[in-house]
Amino acid sequence: MSVTLSRISRAEVLQYLGWRGSEIPPEVNAQVDGCLQQALELAAPRMVWRLFPAAEIPEGVLAGADVRALLCESGRCVLMAATLGGRIEDAIRRAQVRDMTRALILDCCGSAAIEAVCDAAEEEIRSALGGGVFLTDRFSPGYGDLPLSVQPRFLEVLDASRRIGLTLTPTGILTPRKSVTAVLGVAGRPQPRRFRGCAYCSMFENCTYRKAGKSCGK
Ligand code: SF4
Repeated sequence: MSVTLSRISRAEVLQYLGWRGSEIPPEVNAQVDGCLQQALELAAPRMVWRLFPAAEIPEGVLAGADVRALLCESGRCVLMAATLGGRIEDAIRRAQVRDMTRALILDCCGSAAIEAVCDAAEEEIRSALGGGVFLTDRFSPGYGDLPLSVQPRFLEVLDASRRIGLTLTPTGILTPRKSVTAVLGVAGRPQPRRFRGCAYCSMFENCTYRKAGKSCGK
């Protein structure tokens, strides 16, 4: 299933680059604009999702106390996967040979883009489920105590390889790399944000801001 990516958050890209709250040199601004445009042109977003009654979640997909807490008021849950496709990754790799700064900015644009795609996918899921339902946060393998080792089963249950070309490398990394898998609970009343902070953020590995010892407060 395709999903629309109409804009990428510039503020998010700058934050991932570590520029939050500080003055941005004009040359960085220009490079960011160029990379945002390139990322929009190269992205080929696709997503897949399945709905399960909470009691019928396939074995081996979910584990840990955090997911139990996430789904504690949810009678159903959604498993989803989304990807930008491989063209951004190829462009990042090519840029790494010639211009590491551009490669870094493009990488951050890709990260902000896949977040935007997940937001759009979540909206589609919400509207497909109809009124009177409330979704929890998205929670991905690797967050909290949900291990990355569930990824193969997660992709298998979604038939993600066939449906959106999303697979794992032998070392367990999603490929294309700018991709996300996540679980969301479907509840009958508004859900609180149960998990906040860097440990529950998809940018944990790459965020320059976090590496500088700061937090954006997400
Ligand atoms: S929550 Fe942490 S890792 Fe995520 S964007 Fe904010 S500072 Fe970076």
